[in-house]
Amino acid sequence: MSVSEFELIRRFFFDATTARDDVVLGIGDDCALLQVPPGQTLAVSIDTLVAGRHFRPDIAPDALGHKALAVNLSDLAAMGAKPAWATLALTLPDADLDWLGHFMRGFSTLAARFDVELVGGDTTRGPLSITIQVHGLLPDGQGLRRDGARAGDRVLVSGTLGEAALALRELQTGPAEAALLERLERPEPRVDLGILLRDWATAAIDVSDGLLSDLGHICDASGLGARIELARLPLTTRVKAQCSTGNWQLPLDGGDDYELVFTVASEQAVPFGKACAAAGHAAYVIGELVPTPGITLIHPDGRQSRGEAHGFDHFRR
Ligand code: ADP
Ligand code: MG
Repeated sequence: MSVSEFELIRRFFFDATTARDDVVLGIGDDCALLQVPPGQTLAVSIDTLVAGRHFRPDIAPDALGHKALAVNLSDLAAMGAKPAWATLALTLPDADLDWLGHFMRGFSTLAARFDVELVGGDTTRGPLSITIQVHGLLPDGQGLRRDGARAGDRVLVSGTLGEAALALRELQTGPAEAALLERLERPEPRVDLGILLRDWATAAIDVSDGLLSDLGHICDASGLGARIELARLPLTTRVKAQCSTGNWQLPLDGGDDYELVFTVASEQAVPFGKACAAAGHAAYVIGELVPTPGITLIHPDGRQSRGEAHGFDHFRR
């Protein structure tokens, strides 16, 4: 079935999400017009997912719609911003209406949960690629930057690490276990935790490339190092089993977990733990920041080693 670009926009994007009061003008004009409330700062982030690079071409389209938005919302979470608006640039090999319907269902279901309105985008033909830009709101001066950590701060993580990477590993030789695939393809952006962290965290980042790589960004930006106790990493039994040989690659270097890694002043760690539990969020202390650069890993047997990041880098050879 052949449809025009305009028809696609009307059918799939125009009513994809519920309307927000701060959208003066949404899809349909040359620009969207959006109102940032006084006293609030706009947080903006963009991510592209390319077929074959960021996802396998046979991924279920609704999972892809979810993931494309989720990885962007995860960036807002890592900044402590409350999601508000999104734009969607889609490059499609053809106008597969069934595929697009499922893709947009995944996108819209997640957008509805966080009150995100789709306010514009671009639709072109070519190899499958999805670019989403998200816009979030933050009270002025409250963004969770990477450069705010201090020596002695505790390092925390919001959930288990390494399952997405384990799913990828399994996919190389056959199908992956359903629960693992869920972690890889339907990550849960830690938006509400990020908003809570505005009051507690000195720095935050989301784990997209791997714990060592992403914690390394906090260390570099803050001019510090870290000590991580491997025995304290929250791991599922599956991932733990993979680490029992002493190879911690999955939780340390596996990307795509989209948990938050953040730092809290040591004297705040206990009250933060209570506030966090009261709000229904998980958070695990895994180590602390130290004045000397570099990440030191403390192994369960007390041995120490240097943590080298091997996280994903598109341009490293
Ligand atoms: P223009 O030529 O002015 O860029 P387009 O024909 O590309 O306009 O788009 C028309 C309207 O539809 C615009 O408001 C644009 O933001 C919106 N739009 C186009 N593609 C998408 C998409 N994939 N998702 C959401 N909105 C879209
Ligand atoms: Mg356009």
